[in-house]
Amino acid sequence: MNIESRQQLIRDCIKACLDFVDEEVDLPFKHHFIGKFETKFNHGEGSWGGVDRSFGVIWPTVKISVHDRDFDHGPWLESIRQRPWLATGRKSWRDCYQLALENQWLYTEYSSIHYREDIGSFISDDSGLHVMATVCHEVAHAIHWWLVRHDLCSDTKPHGNTWRELYAKLRNHFVNPYIDSCESRGMTMAAKVAAEKEKTMSTKKPASKKKRKSKKTPAKKSAKRTSGAVQKVWDICEKNKADIKSGKKTRKDVIEACVKAGINKGTASTQYQAWKVNTLG
Ligand SMILES: [Zn+2]
Repeated sequence: MNIESRQQLIRDCIKACLDFVDEEVDLPFKHHFIGKFETKFNHGEGSWGGVDRSFGVIWPTVKISVHDRDFDHGPWLESIRQRPWLATGRKSWRDCYQLALENQWLYTEYSSIHYREDIGSFISDDSGLHVMATVCHEVAHAIHWWLVRHDLCSDTKPHGNTWRELYAKLRNHFVNPYIDSCESRGMTMAAKVAAEKEKTMSTKKPASKKKRKSKKTPAKKSAKRTSGAVQKVWDICEKNKADIKSGKKTRKDVIEACVKAGINKGTASTQYQAWKVNTLG
């Protein structure tokens, strides 16, 4: 995809978002918001969204990356694999790196919302969905700051609850319905496991992080999980836990064992990751 087509795709995504805002989002001076909306392109990595201000006039703006890694699976894999330090970083980057080794393309959100079902990370081979998710993320920032600047919102956290709600509204309309199966949603399954883990943790008496990692706790947690393929992957992981911990067995070995047991590779891959985060931290 050349630069012109990338820019056109971004413009189309933004136009769709603004049409949606026009119909579905309650905003002060909405006509101004839509009419003055400014789209810029970043030729480096990363995107941004917010409001600009000059001589007392404010207008919403986004700057979206046109870097090839955001538009094609190949360059994305390449860029992630060249950063092995991601494997030791925050959980979203660890997953991102591991999945890149598995040839899977992860739309990567911040660690704090990484496992969220509505606004979290997801696996997809469709570059349109990756771009649309980025646009939704940044347009949500623009709406949020528009509300703040008009004194209609006191929540000024950039990725706080107001922004999350706005982002979820856009994601639920433009992205989530098209990430249909559990396998392709990938992180959604992990999200359920993480949510269950949180529930289990909160009902237990407070314990230090080290104590939580004692041998017995993960086994108890695993009994609460859903059945079927997910359960099977976790069982296989539990069975091989000592070997995984000691490095005798790699991620690849475990996933191969799962595939041999008749489990879909995508499910095996994401559930292995969820198990690892849940069990080994
Ligand atoms: Zn952001």
